[in-house]
Amino acid sequence: MIKMQEVYMTYPNGVVALNGVNVTIEQGEFVYIVGQSGAGKSTFTKMLFREEVPTKGSVLVNNTDITSLKWKEVPYFRRNIGVVYQDFRLLPKLTVYENIAFALEVIEESPKSIRKRVMNVLDQVGLKNKARFIPDELSGGEQQRVAIARAMVNHPSLLIADEPTGNLDPETSWEIMRILEEINASGTTILMATHSKEIVNTIKKRVIAMEDGMIVRDEHRGEYGYEV
Ligand code: ADP
Ligand code: ADP
Repeated sequence: MIKMQEVYMTYPNGVVALNGVNVTIEQGEFVYIVGQSGAGKSTFTKMLFREEVPTKGSVLVNNTDITSLKWKEVPYFRRNIGVVYQDFRLLPKLTVYENIAFALEVIEESPKSIRKRVMNVLDQVGLKNKARFIPDELSGGEQQRVAIARAMVNHPSLLIADEPTGNLDPETSWEIMRILEEINASGTTILMATHSKEIVNTIKKRVIAMEDGMIVRDEHRGEYGYEV
């Protein structure tokens, strides 16, 4: 479902962030992306929701070549991809409920059905009782669960998580991992960039390691492989 062929990315300032990436990821896989800061992990994930366009090469996501998408088509394309970040990126003035409803692509849906979808996804992350809270009133782990609910409300086939546990304590990080594993078990592909050696070495998944814009290792049930 994801296929990159000879992908190169040079930023306008001349930095080569991807230097000939080839990879195939099947629907339903759970993949960790590891590597030192600056290795190209974020640029790699940004290609997949067309936040960046490669300088050269092709990037297929669900049979769509992102390099040929017109700007008008990008929002439709992105509906099938959820993204969560280390810093949650919730809208601070909106309630938990509103943050999620805001992301919902409403196409002639009744208020009742919208309410049902938002509450269902909140239930999945265990936060039905926090629907009326604003982000500041929640712990970091709860805010990340809201961000995951928001990313999942349109039932995307791919969830991209860029260091989702980077701001969380170990116990909270394991809770977030349990939720990501549940989402993956229902068929959603998960791509998670991470610096957590402990998580990667404990919850064994495919590991793609990047260095200097290249994939230097790709292992089924791999190890983190770095000291920090
Ligand atoms: P990682 O996520 O592994 O830390 P990135 O993909 O963020 O790596 O960065 C790869 C390289 O590209 C780094 O040298 C970084 O400084 C550079 N880079 C990232 N984004 C930009 C940008 N928007 N403009 C210029 N250089 C960038
Ligand atoms: P690229 O990412 O390759 O630069 P874009 O998809 O961003 O291409 O843009 C393609 C064309 O559409 C450009 O001419 C750009 O100015 C135009 N464009 C992009 N976004 C918008 C928008 N929101 N409204 C109007 N025109 C846009």
